[in-house]
Amino acid sequence: MQICVIGGGVVGLNIALELSEIKGSEIFLLEKEKFLGHHTSTRNSEVIHAGFAYPCGSLKAKLCVEGSALTYELLKKLKVPFKKCGKWIIACGNVEEAALHEVEKNAKACGVKDLKLTSVAEFYKAEPSAQNVTGAAFSGTSGIMDASSYIRALELALSSRPNVQVVYPCKVTGIDKMNASIETDRGPMQYDVLINSAGLWADEVHSMTCRGDDFQMCALYQIVPFKGEYYTWRKGKVLTMIYPVPSRFLLQASKASKASKDIGDATLVSSMGIHTHRNMAGELFVGPSQVKLTPDKKSDYSIESPPELFANELSKFVKDISAKDLEPAYAGNRPKLYKGGHPVGDFEIFKDGKIIHLLGIESPALTAAPAIAKYVGKMI
Ligand SMILES: Cc1cc2nc3c(=O)[nH]c(=O)nc-3n(C[C@H](O)[C@H](O)[C@H](O)COP(=O)(O)OP(=O)(O)OC[C@H]3O[C@@H](n4cnc5c(N)ncnc54)[C@H](O)[C@@H]3O)c2cc1C
Repeated sequence: MQICVIGGGVVGLNIALELSEIKGSEIFLLEKEKFLGHHTSTRNSEVIHAGFAYPCGSLKAKLCVEGSALTYELLKKLKVPFKKCGKWIIACGNVEEAALHEVEKNAKACGVKDLKLTSVAEFYKAEPSAQNVTGAAFSGTSGIMDASSYIRALELALSSRPNVQVVYPCKVTGIDKMNASIETDRGPMQYDVLINSAGLWADEVHSMTCRGDDFQMCALYQIVPFKGEYYTWRKGKVLTMIYPVPSRFLLQASKASKASKDIGDATLVSSMGIHTHRNMAGELFVGPSQVKLTPDKKSDYSIESPPELFANELSKFVKDISAKDLEPAYAGNRPKLYKGGHPVGDFEIFKDGKIIHLLGIESPALTAAPAIAKYVGKMI
């Protein structure tokens, strides 16, 4: 069985690894860039999420909870640097404290075992550079990894499998569903199974399958890049990962929006808010922002938001932050999926004949990738 995987990001690489276990499979992983993981997979917070922030019943929640455990196992096996350091979710004031209780309830309902509400004193002991915090929760299974090393280790693992070929640069330019073949800039190929894990471009790959009558159906999907920018704060004394309460829980707590119970509502699963994290080298980052770009700007990684935006947000709970101490670091674009003009909010993974499409694979897919791979494996 010849399986072609389009996209050499963390998701495509995990899928190739999983499917290479199928007896008699021949895997071709095709990546358009000169490097693997060049896009979203290495332009993120590098956080291994626990899975408490997503609506229970959503694919994001299920695959994040499963993926978190699988990711730790895989990183260990592949000798990729990681730290299970945990993360704080904090509240400032009554409304946010109520929202924090909703987070705890959601964590329990989604099967996240080790998120616990703590005393504020406990939080300040761990994080003396915080201020204004009136409520805190600690998520023990959250962690941090080196995403670039992860990508290289996955490539190495794949290169040791006799039935896998990782080909780059190789851009898929057309799909002929009738003949089960693809066009690439290095020539045509046949497939028995085709996986579209093209990240920000998965909508464009999906629309390659459309002809005549199909066309309207395919035009339904559009991926809109939402940029997340990061700044470094070299002088910063923050020791830990501190996240504000995700905004959807604030909506729930204040009963401001009935729509907040709807799994498909993208407001539920948008940015986790501007937070702090230290990468594996110990550098302190603040971010990410959330800036909607036009669909033609999928690989625009320029940093446009002013440092004041980040300093203002963080000064709500961190002491002594000043815009003049922040330096532009990097940006990554979230592949937000719209269907018929409406935001989807969850991963959309479906089969169309011999093709499996993965659309809207935004956060927490760095964490969920091995679970996404198993999910796809069951669809074959
Ligand atoms: C700001 C930000 C912060 C995030 N933080 C976290 C986090 O802390 N934790 C977490 O779990 N997740 C996080 N995420 C989400 C996570 O990074 C992504 O969901 C994940 O990396 C998606 O991986 P992917 O393989 O689907 O996409 P990508 O890494 O984009 O890979 C897709 C690949 O497909 C290739 N491709 C596209 N079209 C073609 C074609 N026609 N032919 C051949 N190849 C093609 C592309 O070049 C690309 O390399 C974050 C995302 C962002 C943007």
